[in-house]
Amino acid sequence: MIGMARRPIIAGNWKMNNTIAAGKQLVKDLAPLVKDNKDVDIVVCPTATALAGVAEAVKGSNIHVGAQNVHWEKSGAYTGEISTEMLNEIGVEYCVLGHSERRDYFGETDEGVNKRAKAAFAAGITPIICCGESLEIREAGNYIDHVVKQINAALEGFAAADVAKLVIAYEPIWAIGTGKTATFDQAEEVCKAIREAVAKKFDQAAADAIRIQYGGSVKPATIKDLMQQPNVDGALVGGASLKAKDFSEIVNF
Ligand code: 13P
Repeated sequence: MIGMARRPIIAGNWKMNNTIAAGKQLVKDLAPLVKDNKDVDIVVCPTATALAGVAEAVKGSNIHVGAQNVHWEKSGAYTGEISTEMLNEIGVEYCVLGHSERRDYFGETDEGVNKRAKAAFAAGITPIICCGESLEIREAGNYIDHVVKQINAALEGFAAADVAKLVIAYEPIWAIGTGKTATFDQAEEVCKAIREAVAKKFDQAAADAIRIQYGGSVKPATIKDLMQQPNVDGALVGGASLKAKDFSEIVNF
C-alpha cells in the first residue's frame, strides 16, 4: 500500500521547552507560514502549562494542539498527571504517548502506554504512540522485533476499526537530538514492519489506514525524501519544531 492514500501528519514535540509566552509567540509566527497548507495535519505539542494558551492562540488556524502525556484515570490521587477531561476542556486533539524519554527517564511501560492510549482514544484524543530502539538493540540486529513488541503491547485491546485512526511514531533513540538521522531506507524498513505487524494483529484495512511517522533529527533538508517513503506518513519533530521557519519548511515539504 502506498503512502499517498494517507493524509500526512507532522507534529512538533516541543518537549520541555517554551514558556506560555514563548509558545504563543511561536504559533503566532508559524500560523501565517503554514496557513495555505491544506494537505497536512499540522500539530504542535507544548508542555502542560502552555497547552491552554497555545490552544487559544491557534484558534481559527490550521494548527492543532497535542499534549505530551495523559493519564488513564478520569481523576484522583495521581500527583503530576493530567486527565483526558482536562485536555478535552481546552481543545487538545492529540497526545504523544510512550516517548522514549518518558520510557527511559520516567519509567513508562508498554502497559502504561496501552492504558493511556485507550483512555485518550475513548475521550476523542488521537494518540501518537511512540516506539523505537536504542543503539544497542539496533547494533544487536533485533530492532524490528523490539519495535513490533512495543506496538503490539500498545495496541492490545483496541478494535481494528479504531486502530485505523491512530498515529504511530517510529523514533530510533540513537537518532533523537543527535543530528544523526536514520537513512530513508532505515526509516522505511521499520515503518513497513510496523504496518505489517498491524495487519497481522488486526486487519489489512487498519494497516492501510494507520498513519506512521518517523522521528529523529528531522530537518527541512530531509523531510522531502523522507515523505517519499511509501510507509512514512509524516514526522514527529523535536528540535526543528522550536523554530517557526524550520517547522514551516518541514510541514510545507
Ligand atoms: P529531534 O527532532 O530533536 O531529534 O527529536 C525527535 C523527537 O524525539 C520527537 O519526539
